[in-house]
Formats: sequence, structure tokens, C-alpha cells
Amino acid sequence: MTISDKTDLFGLFAYEIAELITPFGLKPYRGKQIAEWLYKHNVHQFDAMTNLSKEQRSRLAENFAITEVTLKAKQHSADGQTSKFLLAFSDDMAVETVLMRHSYGNSVCVSTQVGCAMGCAFCASTLTGLVRNLTGGEILAQVLYITELLKLQDQKVDSIVIMGSGEPLANYDNVLRFIRLVHEAYSLNLGYRNITLSTSGLVMAMDKLAAEGLPITLSISLHAPNNVLRSRLMPVNNRYPLEQVLAAGNRYAEATGRRITYEYTLIAGVNDQPVHAKELAAILKGRLANVNLIPINPVPERGLLRPELSEINRFEQILKKEHINVTVRREMGADIAAACGQLRHKVCQSDG
Ligand code: SF4
Repeated sequence: MTISDKTDLFGLFAYEIAELITPFGLKPYRGKQIAEWLYKHNVHQFDAMTNLSKEQRSRLAENFAITEVTLKAKQHSADGQTSKFLLAFSDDMAVETVLMRHSYGNSVCVSTQVGCAMGCAFCASTLTGLVRNLTGGEILAQVLYITELLKLQDQKVDSIVIMGSGEPLANYDNVLRFIRLVHEAYSLNLGYRNITLSTSGLVMAMDKLAAEGLPITLSISLHAPNNVLRSRLMPVNNRYPLEQVLAAGNRYAEATGRRITYEYTLIAGVNDQPVHAKELAAILKGRLANVNLIPINPVPERGLLRPELSEINRFEQILKKEHINVTVRREMGADIAAACGQLRHKVCQSDG
């Protein structure tokens, strides 16, 4: 039997593992023990699961597999605050995972798809289109990889942002599996409130997520204050125009009591003018919302540039004057091209 014939246990819930192992003579409670080895202790060899008998361990190894990620490349920002990892799965497909060290804790940004089909004009992930969805286990493996690194420094992952390459809501079931798995006590036991999911605005999936009853933070990529400009930057706007996205944001905020974060990437000469700031303030007025302004990490392939600091400040001040909650994302990782997809693109180009 080759490894690919064996059922992979990584990415399964404890109850699912229990169902699979009982036909092999292991008691159901062993499912939780194995899940703890996988997700709490990051153990990938059955032989190291020392609370199982030797005989049980070899029976498991004969019939099941545990997949692992491998590191293909890494980059650290000059200030040491941001580290970016290119992690490969068993089929050698790779995605980027980013560790951001904030004053308030360590945050991991995970990818949910290899590539992305959404075609946003400012994003490197979309340059090669969608390659495939990641499984729940493959998304979790990214967080566990970072968890192991942080353990060496006596630190842990404090929050997760689902904002790397891919549209998470286009890979709904796998992303939900990941969110639930990472929350389990036998895994990282991470509170839902410490998880942020970012979407380009898939309205039907946003409503579905609102109905799950999970208090995760929803972040919506807006990037433009009107349909004409948004459709230019984000083709998804042709399917779900701005008004529909904002209405779904309101429904999510009502259902969960959670404030929506609207992401707005500032691109020099494209969407960073005072007229855009005023328009943005007008459409967000009265909503349970924060605006996160993100000066673009330049995408050389697309000729998109970062606005001057004075333009960024002016945009922020206009929103503040209109009583919109606004923050400007601290410059993290610009020197290592932290825009989603850029490391992968570089390595894949040099590979190819
Ligand atoms: S910004 Fe996000 S949704 Fe848009 S193409 Fe990039 S990864 Fe996809």
C-alpha cells in the first residue's frame, strides 16, 4: 500500500478520526488522543504517539497517513516584524503564509486557495488564476507550522486572518472546517473572535456565514467607493455590485453584533483622491463599520504604485472628519513584497 492509498487523518475532527479507527480495533476515545497529537503537539509520526500501544501505532501506520507541509522559501522583513513562508503540500503546490508580530500579539495570515479566480487588478495571486482549493487540513497546517516556530521562542499564535491568496468564501466548506478545527480544545483552542475572514464580497456566501452563528470578524474588500471604479479593480463587482455587498455587510453585522471591517487599498492616482474619500464616507455613514486603509504594496507586474504619505494622510483625515472609524495599516512587510501571492509568484517564476 502506498502513502497515497492511505486515508489521511490530518484535517479531520476527533469524531471523524474515531469513526475511521474503530474498525481497526481502537476505542473511539482514541480519536481525541490522536487529534491532540496532530493539532496540539504537531506530531506527524504514529510512532511518536506514546499513549497508544506499539501494536496500535503500527496498525495505524499501516492504514493511515498524516500529511505535512514543507518549507520552500522564506523571507523576513528588515524590521523583523513580518516573516513570509512559502509552504508546499504533498502535491508540491505551494502557498504563502505570513507571520506578523504586532505589539498586541502574533497574527498569522493564511491562504485558502492556490492562486485565485477573482482577478483583482492589484493582486499578485491572480496572475496565474485559480489552481486549486486547499483542504481544511492544508489551511490548518499553515497555522501549525507557525505555531511550532513560535514555540521555540515561548510564544504562540494569538490571532488568524484569512486573507492570504484565494477567496475564502469560494472554498466555503474547507474554510469553515478549518475555522471550527482551530477552535477545538484538542487543537489550538483559538476563540472565534480572534479570527478574521476577508472576502471580496460574495454576497450569498456572506449570508450563509452570518447564519453559522460564529462570532468571527468579517472583513470586506471594498477598494473603491463606486461601482464603475470597483468593477475596474475587482471584476466580482459585476456579479455583486457595491449596494448588495454593503447590504450583506449590514446583515452580517446585525446577525453577529460584530463590526464589519472594510478594506480599502490605496493606489496612487486610482482611488486615493479626496473625491473618493468623500464618496466612501457617504456610503459608509451610519453603518457598524471600520475602514482599514492599506497603502498598496507595489505590484511591479501591474504598474500599480503606492500613494505619497501626504495623500494617505489626507484621505484618512477626510474620513475622520465625516466620523468614519478609520485606521491605516502599519507598513508591514513592504520590503518583502507582502501583498498576497508575490513570494509564490517569484519562486514559481524562478522554478519555471
Ligand atoms: S485580492 Fe484576494 S480575492 Fe482578489 S484576486 Fe487577490 S487573493 Fe483573490
